[in-house]
Amino acid sequence: MPELPETQTIAALLNKNLKGRKIVTVQVSKDYRALPSTEIFIKAVTGKEIKSVRRVAKNILIELENGNHILFHLAMTGRLLLWNDKIGNERWVKVILHLDNGVKLTFSDMRVFGKAAVLSPKQTQELEARYGPEPLDKKTTHQQLVDRLKTKRTNIKNALLDQEIISGIGNIYATDALFLAKINPFTKTSEITLENANRLLDSIRSVLKESIKLGGSTLNDKMYVDPFGKEGKYQEHFKIYSKEKCPVCGSKVSFIKISGRGTYFCPSCQPLNKQ
Ligand SMILES: [Zn+2]
Repeated sequence: MPELPETQTIAALLNKNLKGRKIVTVQVSKDYRALPSTEIFIKAVTGKEIKSVRRVAKNILIELENGNHILFHLAMTGRLLLWNDKIGNERWVKVILHLDNGVKLTFSDMRVFGKAAVLSPKQTQELEARYGPEPLDKKTTHQQLVDRLKTKRTNIKNALLDQEIISGIGNIYATDALFLAKINPFTKTSEITLENANRLLDSIRSVLKESIKLGGSTLNDKMYVDPFGKEGKYQEHFKIYSKEKCPVCGSKVSFIKISGRGTYFCPSCQPLNKQ
C-alpha cells in the first residue's frame, strides 16, 4: 500500500491543485534525509514553479519548471496531504513544501521506507525505464505480459508484484485480479497461456479502474487517505481480498502467505491445473 489506484488518485488531485504554483520555501525534518541530500533537495526545489504532477508505477513525480522532478515514493506508510491553512494534527512529517498561495504539501512517513528525492531529467528517464508496462496504457498487450512473465521463474502471484514485469500492482489488486481471471496464485509463470494472460490483463484493468473510480482502498489502519484526508472506498468492493467466503460459489476462501504477503483465493473457482 498504496498501489496504482491510490497513487493515481493522489497524483491527479495534486496535479489539479499544484499545477502552476510556485514552491516558496521547503522544510525538511532534522531526523530525515531527502535525496540525494537534504541540502541539494532544498536548493533544487525552492523558488521553482510546478508544471505538472503525474504517476509512474507507484511513484509520484512533480515536474518543475527546469525539467527536474520531485519524486515521492510512499512505500508502506508514506502520506501526502494538502493544507489550505495551518498544518493540522499530522505525525511523522518529514518534508513540507510551502506554495505561493499559502497552501502546504506535507510528506509524512511513519516507518520511513518511503522516499523524497529530486531527480534530473536524465534520472527521471532512467526511473521510468526501470518499470514494466503500465496496465492501463492501451498500448500494453497480453502478448507483452506473457512474454515478460516467461522471463521470471516464479508463481503468477509473485510475478504480478514484480514492478519490472508490470507497473503499479501490489498485493490487493494482484489478489483480486487473479480471482476475477480464475487463475490460481501458485500457477507457474511458464504455464500462463496467452488466453490466461488475456483474461488476466482484462481483470487487472477492471479492478484498477473500479478502484480509481472509488478513490482507492483504505484499510483498517487508515494509513491511506487522499491529499484532502478522504478515505477510499474500494475496500467495500473487494472481490476476494480479506473475504472468508467466496462471493461466487460460497466455498471457504483459502488464505496463505506467498513471499510473506497475505493471499486469498477460492480453491474451487481458482483450481491449480496440474500438468
Ligand atoms: Zn469460488
